[in-house]
Amino acid sequence: TTLSSKSRMSNYKTPLGTQRICKGWEQEAALRMLLNNLDPEVAENPEELIVYGGRGKAARNLEALDKIIASLKVLENDESLLIQSGKPVGIMLTHPNAPRVLISNSQLVPRWANWETFDQLEKKGLMMYGQMTAGSWIYIGTQGIIQGTFETFAELARQHFGAKLKGKLNVTAGLGGMGGAQPLAITMNGGVCLVAEMESWRIEKRLKTRYLDESYDEIDQAIDRALEAKTSGKALSVGVHCNAVDLLERLQERKVLPDTLTDQTSAHDPLMGYFPQDLSVEEAYQMRKENPEKYIELAYASMVKHVQLMLDFHRNGVVTFDYGNNLRARAYEKGLKEAFDFPGFVPAFIRPLFCEGKGPFRWAALSGDPEDISKTDELILELFPGNKSLHRWIRMAQEKIAFQGLPARICWLGQGEREKAGLAFNELVSTGKVKAPIVIGRDHLDAGSVASPYRETEGMKDGSDAVADWPILNALMNTASGASWVSLHHGGGVGMGYSIHAGMVIVADGSELAAGKLHRVLKNDPGIGVIRHADAGYEKARMTARKHGLSLDQKIR
Ligand code: NAD
Repeated sequence: TTLSSKSRMSNYKTPLGTQRICKGWEQEAALRMLLNNLDPEVAENPEELIVYGGRGKAARNLEALDKIIASLKVLENDESLLIQSGKPVGIMLTHPNAPRVLISNSQLVPRWANWETFDQLEKKGLMMYGQMTAGSWIYIGTQGIIQGTFETFAELARQHFGAKLKGKLNVTAGLGGMGGAQPLAITMNGGVCLVAEMESWRIEKRLKTRYLDESYDEIDQAIDRALEAKTSGKALSVGVHCNAVDLLERLQERKVLPDTLTDQTSAHDPLMGYFPQDLSVEEAYQMRKENPEKYIELAYASMVKHVQLMLDFHRNGVVTFDYGNNLRARAYEKGLKEAFDFPGFVPAFIRPLFCEGKGPFRWAALSGDPEDISKTDELILELFPGNKSLHRWIRMAQEKIAFQGLPARICWLGQGEREKAGLAFNELVSTGKVKAPIVIGRDHLDAGSVASPYRETEGMKDGSDAVADWPILNALMNTASGASWVSLHHGGGVGMGYSIHAGMVIVADGSELAAGKLHRVLKNDPGIGVIRHADAGYEKARMTARKHGLSLDQKIR
């Protein structure tokens, strides 16, 4: 079946160009973005319809995919298609301002919200795991990860180092799927990155794709090289082929204090994701198979030491944070009481952005022409002349990021800015400056669209980490505001039972109707994030709410 599905997948090419095959551009955009998610250049495993993130899928199975495509082709401009966990289940009469597609993925009643139940239902063909942007048809490849990491370090720089990482030494570990974005994100911010990685093939891969500049086997040599770059203020990334714990110990022995410290080994998975100190990669592979209990014991012992070292650096003034890999929790499980003394990256660096409604705004050119993205890049630079890190990101992205599938761009924009950009894109389309409509969306990791107590809503000021009304209100409100498609998911990022989150996509097709929708959706969508954070007691969010007329008190006075 794999072979036949493989040859079948080659028939699912994303339509390009200025002629549409659907009855409106919203339906056409949904069709193109669905197929773009499954493009072999974009998806991790298109034959299985898996887009990214373990088993995050775009459609439940090939039959469902065929039916979604057929449905989108006949869908009228006053109808809405319903998707239940990756399968189309109905076309209903709505109205032109309603979304063309409404999606619910992987929802389980809370009492049953675990992998066990989900797996059983999936086996029976009744469900699909939608991750975040996989099941909501707005994934754009690795650009999103690089940008998220870039934005984290940019905010860190704003908070601690006057907005740039120039002359700053940033130490981390892990050059895997997501961690591999760290060296590039740090040098894009002007800093020096010193990153430990145990597996040589990962280092090779990052060197080859130019995410990493140099690599050394000798720890001292790598430290010297990084210090040299720090002194000269040169942006440089240095890989070192060693265990993260060994690198931190050596830095401590040599009394080298980094400026920042984090870690992106896969500590969330002690058996398969983390190498214990004092084992070679070969020994580790062998022990994983032959004596997994022993391996896990060594991994835990190593993680305790790892976090202890991070705590030492933290006490000595190094800006230290957990990068969402659960490393702190692992050490805490083994009795390291102070493990949570340094913060996670969301409360430390992302939440202040959420308070301003800032989040991962992204768009793709439906024409398939990279020229169209260049036009939007220039427009963004023009619209926000004062935003230096935005300018740095766009310029670097143009130079260093290869498009996967439809040409796309991502950047973080806040309250007021998203609306401004969306309406300006609509004008680019109406005046013919770009060849075809632009589709605008975002990740579910955003200000008001996710409840995830171990990640996006960790440590909320008022303790509302697990309150999931917000993402549900977000989906309802985007539907009422007229987004082109809206999705509500469960379990993205952190797994079944741990998160509820919503997505939205909106098409700028140059019409008046689209302008009205863009105005409402791109104001309200980040707006609910601002309101959510203001409600939780964040002063910055309250200020943003008042500035943009979002505060309820202003309205009822
Ligand atoms: P991955 O498994 O692809 O890569 C992990 C890398 O760490 C591997 O290359 C491995 O060789 C290396 N490694 C493991 N133990 C090591 C050690 N002791 N010393 C040096 N290197 C070691 O994982 P990934 O996709 O890169 O993600 C890494 C972790 O970061 C995951 O836990 C992920 O959940 C987390 N993460 C979270 C977010 C977020 O948004 N919260 C973002 C990015 C990554």
